[in-house]
Amino acid sequence: MEKKALEYFEKILKDRIREISSNIDMSNISLKELNSSNPKDQSDIVSANLQGQIDFLIIQKHGLELQDIMSSLQKIKNETYGICEMCDDEINIERLKVKPHAKYCVKCRELHEKSKIKVKNEI
Ligand SMILES: [Zn+2]
Repeated sequence: MEKKALEYFEKILKDRIREISSNIDMSNISLKELNSSNPKDQSDIVSANLQGQIDFLIIQKHGLELQDIMSSLQKIKNETYGICEMCDDEINIERLKVKPHAKYCVKCRELHEKSKIKVKNEI
């Protein structure tokens, strides 16, 4: 990939980290508030728990995305960014613009999704 394109994606990835970090900070604050609040009745407890779970899922989901973003930044350093982890082909640049931390090309992504569904059905 050209140096200019790499710089472009590096900036996007770093911006995304900042965005996620501030989201996670906000989720952490609302979790803390929930833990310190005193729900008055049962329905308050239920909705507080539900909100807590949603926040937890947000943190969990963003945590995984953060990991992918960090490994993408590492790839930029190693000059292997934009290369599919499965087949070593270049990932389409339009796909990277939509998902800069993509690990796989479109073909491998589809295979990956299919195999996940297959595993689920087998269980
Ligand atoms: Zn591939």
